[in-house]
Amino acid sequence: MPYVAKTIDYLKVSSPAQDEFYQAAEEVLNSLRPLFEREKKYLKHNIIDRIVEPERQIFFRVAWLDDAGEVRVNKGYRIQFNSAVGPYKGGLRFHPSVTAGTIKFLGFEQIFKNSLSGLAIGGAKGGSNFDPKGKSDNEIMRFCQSFMNELYRHIGSTIDVPAGDIGVGGREIGYLYGQYKRLTGHYEGVLTGKKVNWGGSLARTEATGYGAVYFAENMLHAHGDSLTGKVCTVSGSGNVAIYTIEKLQQLGAKAVTVSDSQGMIYDPEGIDLALLKDIKEVRRERLTAYTAERKSAKYTPVSEYPKGQNGVWTVPCQAAFPSATQNELNGKDADTLLKNGCLCVSEGANMPSTHEAMQRFLAAKICYGPGKAANAGGVSTSQLEMSQNASMQQWRFEEVDTKLQGIMRGIFRISSETAKEFGEPHNLVLGANIAGFRKVADSMIDQGV
Ligand code: GLU
Repeated sequence: MPYVAKTIDYLKVSSPAQDEFYQAAEEVLNSLRPLFEREKKYLKHNIIDRIVEPERQIFFRVAWLDDAGEVRVNKGYRIQFNSAVGPYKGGLRFHPSVTAGTIKFLGFEQIFKNSLSGLAIGGAKGGSNFDPKGKSDNEIMRFCQSFMNELYRHIGSTIDVPAGDIGVGGREIGYLYGQYKRLTGHYEGVLTGKKVNWGGSLARTEATGYGAVYFAENMLHAHGDSLTGKVCTVSGSGNVAIYTIEKLQQLGAKAVTVSDSQGMIYDPEGIDLALLKDIKEVRRERLTAYTAERKSAKYTPVSEYPKGQNGVWTVPCQAAFPSATQNELNGKDADTLLKNGCLCVSEGANMPSTHEAMQRFLAAKICYGPGKAANAGGVSTSQLEMSQNASMQQWRFEEVDTKLQGIMRGIFRISSETAKEFGEPHNLVLGANIAGFRKVADSMIDQGV
């Protein structure tokens, strides 16, 4: 079927220089081949051309004053990709590397992730090339207020509900939410990832990391195995990494690494979670602070990583949790992980494995949970926050956590059952893509052109 190459060629011409988006689109479209061979309706309704085209993209200027009184300008984005199964839902990423292509790939992934969650939420994403690192609290506030000065007219609690992603946590959501209320006089949900005192959900902060671990447990249980006693490597040191480590420790596994853009920590005795939380969540410092206070830990700067590799994936482990960013694990890293006996990879980040890495994991038939399935706990708990807001309730931590576990079990089940249906029982990439796609595509057909 030539449609994948044709579609990707078209995207390259119509939306130039968006490599990450082509990568995400190619991966999804390739795994849909067996579905299209079996079911002609998707080609007949031209779902392929329709699904790779966002319903709406908003590009805007974000001008703000820095502490020196200088005017600064950044780019703002919101992409409302697909509303077939429900209102637009997806995070905001603030990072200097963000381009229109980054937001587009993340928005595209979000469609299938949100569909897989079994909840009624469509796919969206947004963000800015603003770099929060080194900015004062007041600068962050002024930036967020300016960002919302444009965004507010495009969102709403039953229209489009943004949340956090890299560079956007409770603090940023607070400034965005405050400005939304000032501008609109509407006091309902509208953003998720709010702090618990003002409408946030308990367990939302933990949800992406916990969910990635629950997903790994589901994969391992299906093979009569578990995480208990396993040595695990984790990349990143943000919200996803921290709560991945917390849940791993609660389940009796040992997480031995964390990283940031400048280097990594290897702590063979297991990451000291209280120290890590203090450094990242309270002091907002770099990881070098960790080694200063912990004798067992070794710090390696990125410049000393083996050539062409991410140092984190050279540490021997039985389970790996990529929780930093896209394409942080390449084919060589995958080979190293497999050679060292890794038997489970659960992706807390969005598209952390390159195409080559993914192929290696699938060929080795290890337990491999692609991001759109494994990290769906975050957005799913956002939807639980929306439910609580709509009913003006606050559920207990255990209640939310139990629902999260059920959702992750459901995502694993539908992905693996779909993989079995198409004759590749170990291939959760195929299973997740087909299951996520089918619901969205059928909804699009039901709703007409
Ligand atoms: N940014 C997260 C994700 O990639 C969460 C999105 C949300 O909660 O809306 O799924």
